[in-house]
Amino acid sequence: MPPQTVSVDALLDLVTRVLLRHGASASNVAPVAETIVAAERDGSASHGLLRLPGYVATLKSGWVDGRAVPVVTDAAPGLVVTDAANGFAQPALRTSAALLREKARSQGIAALAIRSSHHFAAVWPDIEPFAADGFIALALVNGRRRMVVYDGKRKVLGTSPMGFACPRTGKPPLVWDQASSVMAQGDVLLAAQRGEMLPEGVGLDADGNPTTDPRVLLDGGSALPFGDHKGSSIALMIEVMAGALTGGCFGFEDRSAEYPGAQTSKAGQTVILIDPSRVRGNRYFERIESLFAALSESGVTRLPADRRYARRERSLRDGIVLSDRQRAQLDELLA
Ligand code: NDP
Repeated sequence: MPPQTVSVDALLDLVTRVLLRHGASASNVAPVAETIVAAERDGSASHGLLRLPGYVATLKSGWVDGRAVPVVTDAAPGLVVTDAANGFAQPALRTSAALLREKARSQGIAALAIRSSHHFAAVWPDIEPFAADGFIALALVNGRRRMVVYDGKRKVLGTSPMGFACPRTGKPPLVWDQASSVMAQGDVLLAAQRGEMLPEGVGLDADGNPTTDPRVLLDGGSALPFGDHKGSSIALMIEVMAGALTGGCFGFEDRSAEYPGAQTSKAGQTVILIDPSRVRGNRYFERIESLFAALSESGVTRLPADRRYARRERSLRDGIVLSDRQRAQLDELLA
């Protein structure tokens, strides 16, 4: 391997050491490091190593508890409620997953409501494993205030993401995962780092005027929802499902500014699992392939997640190429 290329396992080891070095406990570090490395492995650049300094800065600020112990409650036959205890969302999800799976298997459907959790990552790593196990999975995550609602003047909601995954026979799951803003914050950050301008219609400046400068958007400006009023309504639904339903913070209640360096959103997350094999007579696994065949016949050549799966195969085979900047950053964070 060229010197700047690392295997996926070696990168996981590096990221794990960085997070341990900055005070997080082993049980918290494992799922967070796996999520960061999965994003880098699958070419989801906006949520891979790019985010590592943000995790470290947030740990240092005291805004997130890297040693949190999530509290999982068996709330009802089809409901798990988890208090992430001001820790990262991934350890809370991991701690809750077995009970959620068991309920979805026995009831046909189950939901998990996580509150007091910091989600700073892509959502697909949260749901892809459930779909690989045969469940249809839907995840809704809210975040700190960054986005205006259609017709609003000031930002109230996060660029809150949602993800959907469903199982297939003999093929990896179909998974999609997207921000409710036109552009995810991570991509705005990347554009700012690269000195690139944004397309029209991505964001507003601090006075509510359109801007194409990512630094202006990041400096007190706000993101715009995708699809005008339609995306805005979806973002509103996410806020209700991930903020109100769970008991997590709303985007506008964000207090991260009181913790200099803090970059994560303390909010909530709802995950819904459905076992499609429990719907008698639906012939789900057979019929869903006929849907994909029809898409293919219609000219569709790429499904959501296809790009990631191809990139994953390459990364697992050839390793991950680190830029000079990424290598230097890892060394600095480990120093
Ligand atoms: P993208 O617009 O890059 O992609 C959205 C989805 O569309 C992906 O599933 C992608 O699949 C799919 N897709 C993209 N292009 C095509 C195409 N040509 N044909 C078919 N499918 C396509 O996502 P966003 O920029 O909106 O979000 C990026 C990430 O940011 C997400 O992972 C999201 O979870 C994360 N995020 C996290 C937040 C948080 O608070 N934690 C806040 C906001 C966003 P593929 O992966 O294969 O490209």
